[in-house]
Amino acid sequence: MSDPEYDLIAIGGGFAGLTAAARAQDLGLKCLVLERDSEDRYLCNSRITSGVFHVASNDVRLGPEDLAPAIEKETAGYAKPELVQTIAVNAARTVEWLRGAGVKFVAKGVGYVNMRQHMVLAPPRRMRAGLDWEGRGGDFTLRALEAFLIKYGGAVDRGAEVTRLLMEDGRCIGAEVKAGGKLKEITARAVVIADGGFQANPEMLRGSVTGAPDRVRLRATPSGTGDGIRMAQDVGAAVTALGDFYGHLLSATAMTNEALWPYPNIDIVAVAGVMVDGNGRRFVDESRGGVFLSNAVAKLDDPLSATLVMTKKIWDEIGTDGIAPPNPLMVKHGGTLIEAPDLGALAAAIQVPADALKTTLDGYNQAFHSGNLGTLSPQRDGGRHQAYPVEEGPYCAIRLCAGVTNTMGGIEIDQHCRVLGKDGAPIAGLYAAGSSTGGLEGGPNVGYVGGLVKAFVFGMVAGEHIAGEIDA
Ligand SMILES: Cc1cc2nc3c(=O)[nH]c(=O)nc-3n(C[C@H](O)[C@H](O)[C@H](O)COP(=O)(O)OP(=O)(O)OC[C@H]3O[C@@H](n4cnc5c(N)ncnc54)[C@H](O)[C@@H]3O)c2cc1C
Repeated sequence: MSDPEYDLIAIGGGFAGLTAAARAQDLGLKCLVLERDSEDRYLCNSRITSGVFHVASNDVRLGPEDLAPAIEKETAGYAKPELVQTIAVNAARTVEWLRGAGVKFVAKGVGYVNMRQHMVLAPPRRMRAGLDWEGRGGDFTLRALEAFLIKYGGAVDRGAEVTRLLMEDGRCIGAEVKAGGKLKEITARAVVIADGGFQANPEMLRGSVTGAPDRVRLRATPSGTGDGIRMAQDVGAAVTALGDFYGHLLSATAMTNEALWPYPNIDIVAVAGVMVDGNGRRFVDESRGGVFLSNAVAKLDDPLSATLVMTKKIWDEIGTDGIAPPNPLMVKHGGTLIEAPDLGALAAAIQVPADALKTTLDGYNQAFHSGNLGTLSPQRDGGRHQAYPVEEGPYCAIRLCAGVTNTMGGIEIDQHCRVLGKDGAPIAGLYAAGSSTGGLEGGPNVGYVGGLVKAFVFGMVAGEHIAGEIDA
């Protein structure tokens, strides 16, 4: 290859692509970010993030001795050990580098399970219903990283859609780009795939994520179309299991009401109540938390057939807790809360067989009182979230939908974020970061480690490794 035009090009202008490019530019490389969207403040998941920079719900500034076991526990050992180490060793350092690049954080209590004071991108999102991103942490951080990149001689090309990776003798040497209706080739010593997952691609979701992509709610921008995974596979990259996603439970009304996503989510009451399918039967261990539960709902034959059943007491006491409490936000913004004085009326209102619902709740309440929730099928293990009896009216119910924020599976990478081929060896010149990558999150627990940490830490590590390779 004759002299490439750039040292590094990043596919995608979210946190992963901008961090990789800005860090490498900082280290003296010549970098370009290619962003498909042509808007100045293009929408991507980074732009609308809530900005809580955590590692498996732990403070990102903890040391590797705390973070590595936390990731292993959350993912039940599914996370690749080398990626666990990459995150655990570099997370706190990433905060410091980002600060130096102009990113601002506030230490803030966010009230999730296990979450006390956390580094949150500033200015923090106001925890209100609907989308609220302008001038908030995600928006500010994208602009800060772009300004840093440009200040040191790098560039961001908007309206530049990468369509194919260029390969020569087994090495990635650049990318084909569609811009202004024309195709052109841009050469580089290294390419970082950072296009942000496939949550907005119904055909890729169909099958392993859900059988009915039109019956789940995209709790994200429409930017994640899985191009990076497709392009990587075309050049022989290995891809992890693709079935899990990070998401939350929403009112089914969010399918048509923009004010009901990304907040309020209704996880906080779902874990305290009983979730039933269209036959009035439990289908999941409610104590597993909102990410697990939204995956279970997405995988039902009809993902819009699930209903949360609880007492009015749960709705009034637990529903009013948390950072963006579903009570009163859900109803205030048009979500439907079903209320009924007794079980018969409730079954009629949620359209499930009354005898089946009664059997489900009788069994649940008996198990609750005898301390045998673990013997139910499916069991309710009670470990992570406390159970409550659901035996005295008035009752409340919420029809549910799964809110899909970002996919967890993706391109296989090693500890330096180099893309791995099917033989397990790195593909020269090719890296991946952020939601396009797999191997850290998912598995039997649908373990959630954090979208920001995958974008920032993997982006930084990729940029540094590329700089190191070019230097050597
Ligand atoms: C509502 C919401 C709240 C969240 N809250 C949190 C939180 O509190 N904590 C946390 O850890 N995570 C959170 N996340 C997740 C986190 O924000 C994301 O995982 C992370 O920002 C993803 O960064 P990324 O760079 O991988 O992808 P993105 O930010 O999605 O950027 C990818 C970019 O690639 C571009 N692109 C796509 N295809 C192409 C192509 N072919 N050519 C060129 N460009 C392309 C897209 O247009 C997009 O701009 C949240 C996400 C959402 C939606």
